[in-house]
Amino acid sequence: MKNRRIFLQKAGLSALALNLTPLKPLWALNDGKLMHVTEDKPLRVAIMGLGSYGTRVAQAMKDCKRAKLVGVISGTPSKVEAWQKEYNIPAKNCYNYDTYHQIKDNPDIDAVYVITPNGLHKEHTLGVAKAGKHVICEKPMAVNAKEGKEMVDACQAAGVQLLVGYRMHFEANTQEVIKMQMNGDFGKVLFFQGLSGFIIGDPTQWRLNYELSGGGAMMDIGIYSINGARYMIGEEPIWVTAQETKNDPVKFKEGVDETIQFQLGFPGGAVASCLSTYSMNNLDKFFLNGNKGFAEMQPSTGYGPIQGRTHKGPLSNPHVTHQTTQMDEMAAIILDGKKPLVPVDGVEGLRDLVIIDAIYQAVKTGEKVSLV
Ligand code: NDP
Repeated sequence: MKNRRIFLQKAGLSALALNLTPLKPLWALNDGKLMHVTEDKPLRVAIMGLGSYGTRVAQAMKDCKRAKLVGVISGTPSKVEAWQKEYNIPAKNCYNYDTYHQIKDNPDIDAVYVITPNGLHKEHTLGVAKAGKHVICEKPMAVNAKEGKEMVDACQAAGVQLLVGYRMHFEANTQEVIKMQMNGDFGKVLFFQGLSGFIIGDPTQWRLNYELSGGGAMMDIGIYSINGARYMIGEEPIWVTAQETKNDPVKFKEGVDETIQFQLGFPGGAVASCLSTYSMNNLDKFFLNGNKGFAEMQPSTGYGPIQGRTHKGPLSNPHVTHQTTQMDEMAAIILDGKKPLVPVDGVEGLRDLVIIDAIYQAVKTGEKVSLV
């Protein structure tokens, strides 16, 4: 079948012209180059951590064309039972945190999507890599750069891919702005503003427990402004300054940041001014300004639809559930070697962690921290 298609393509003939069943293409353009596409093979994914976001991803994967939910790893048997029914998952693909290492003997699972609390990402990623499966890990990839580097190294040593759940990198309006910036449509970019925050509820949740969260709002939501500043400006920052405000030290204990304002300096002269908070709502906004034009997005990183405009007019790409696009694109990255517009690999995740480390250091010392 494969040989027949290559022959037809080489001969410049279409299946239709020869009255044969139409076939999906075996080749696709990626980054300007013709590349081979693995025909029809889905990425078979097990989700680890069947919580709120894991559920959202599983629902979104129902519409995926290249990725398929085939397994679960969970500490809660009742959830496993419910997911087996809802997603038609066989018992042989169900694991808990004590047994998931056995996944190495399961040929029906290609990758594990780690969607557990931040403080467990390293342990879980290392475990999955050791079992020889590709890892997709939620953001923040780890709780500091040292852990992140260990994860990158472990996946490399195990010969598996490590991707981070940066769903915005695949969102159409976001990509339009990034492409405009790459084309020089904004001219020399000099300023970015990122506002990321919400009022956090239940004080007993893991997001406010340093051991499991690794920090506060910065780890959870501030990271969107860090990552956004990098993909909107298209450069890596060279310095950081940061200031913390804590109004509720009972709810936001030692190490758990409530509100941090931070600034990032970029080599081309741009400055990003950002806010990360767990104490204010209505903060989901990006603004990019250059000497030839601007882009503003609000909401900029929520589940969408992402809305905004540039100096050329409104952003009007149709909304697609972010996690559906993300998982299909990640399947193409893992299975076909597709190169994404903005990286989503472990090194990309590590870059954000280096900046987060520097922000916490700047808060502590009150000094400008160099990133070079
Ligand atoms: P939840 O608390 O809703 O779910 C986390 C799940 O992890 C739990 O339900 C549980 O699943 C499992 N788990 C394993 N060990 C623990 C533990 N010690 N304490 C608590 N839960 C544990 O969190 P979220 O789903 O909201 O967040 C999970 C990850 O996803 C985080 O890293 C977060 O930053 C990220 N996230 C990313 C988003 C995005 O847009 N990219 C959006 C929201 C979250 P089980 O019972 O099956 O073991």
